[in-house]
Amino acid sequence: MLNVSHLTKKYNRFKANDNISFIVNEGEIAVLAGPNGAGKSTAIKCIAGLLRFDGEIEICGFNNKSLEAKRVLGYIPEIPAPFELLTVWEHMEFIARAYRLENWKERAEELVRRMELTDKKDKLGKELSKGMQQKISICCALLIEPKLVLFDEPFVGLDPHAIKELKAMLFEMKEKGVTIIISTHMLDSVEEFWDKVFIMMDGRIEAERERKAVEKSGENLEELFFSITEKNRPEKEQEASS
Ligand code: ADP
Repeated sequence: MLNVSHLTKKYNRFKANDNISFIVNEGEIAVLAGPNGAGKSTAIKCIAGLLRFDGEIEICGFNNKSLEAKRVLGYIPEIPAPFELLTVWEHMEFIARAYRLENWKERAEELVRRMELTDKKDKLGKELSKGMQQKISICCALLIEPKLVLFDEPFVGLDPHAIKELKAMLFEMKEKGVTIIISTHMLDSVEEFWDKVFIMMDGRIEAERERKAVEKSGENLEELFFSITEKNRPEKEQEASS
């Protein structure tokens, strides 16, 4: 479904992603976990087709920069960037026209309702709080009924109701066979629903685990996470935080 092969992304000489390869199948929820600066957002932006990179990325068998791939891709960035002068509902109309969607209004109403934006439908993008802007991003990305959804740190900045609703939506999408990638620096925020986890550090995937295997072995994922991500921290810093 999503096939990332030898992805390397350099900002000048610095490798933010260093030869990353992974596969996520239909209906799987995969987590890119790692501390700030590990390279999660960069990988997500490369998959979304927003950055140039070396390597190959395929979505549903299509190169990620092709129109076929873009048609089935939903991306919710870490920092929302709604159109300042479009209302909430106009965002829905804009996406519907851009993607030539048919019979979209009912779905748009439902998304707007679930994200508690119904009474904000006529508010302009610039008049909304950051959390509300993030909710618009979610509505826009999901309106197209994507087959692959990329969520960059989705739970930061959302209120508890929206987090609960979003988690319910993740389960519903998974049931329908949608593939989902979530980046996070907080493993506990995804513990109920991850299928695969890739632990990233310094631009590389340092460990990959499947839920079934972890459940069978009883491995402590949090311990694994810290053993990888704190390996190279200066001693003083480690002492201060312990
Ligand atoms: P994460 O999402 O895991 O916090 P990022 O992918 O945002 O990590 O960043 C990975 C590394 O790449 C960091 O060291 C960051 O400073 C660097 N980086 C990210 N974006 C840029 C950019 N536009 N130019 C230069 N360096 C960048």
